[in-house]
Amino acid sequence: MLIVTLQRDKCIGCNYCVEAAPELFRMSQKDGKAVLLRSKEKRGFWNLKTHRMDLTAQAETAKEVCPAKIIQVKIL
Ligand code: SF4
Repeated sequence: MLIVTLQRDKCIGCNYCVEAAPELFRMSQKDGKAVLLRSKEKRGFWNLKTHRMDLTAQAETAKEVCPAKIIQVKIL
């Protein structure tokens, strides 16, 4: 299982994660911060759990390019 986490309140809206992982992130028109698609919020952390292991490379790249360092990737 692939687990991606976004600490959304610290997002600076740079769009890099969307460019790196368009199947995982988009920008919100409302507040200009990144949205982690299909994720659920828990205490400020947005979590996506998926069996789509083909998204791992995109997730890892998004984690690397995020200047705020608020994207985490775990593989279980
Ligand atoms: S790369 Fe990081 S700071 Fe930039 S929009 Fe995505 S989550 Fe926000």
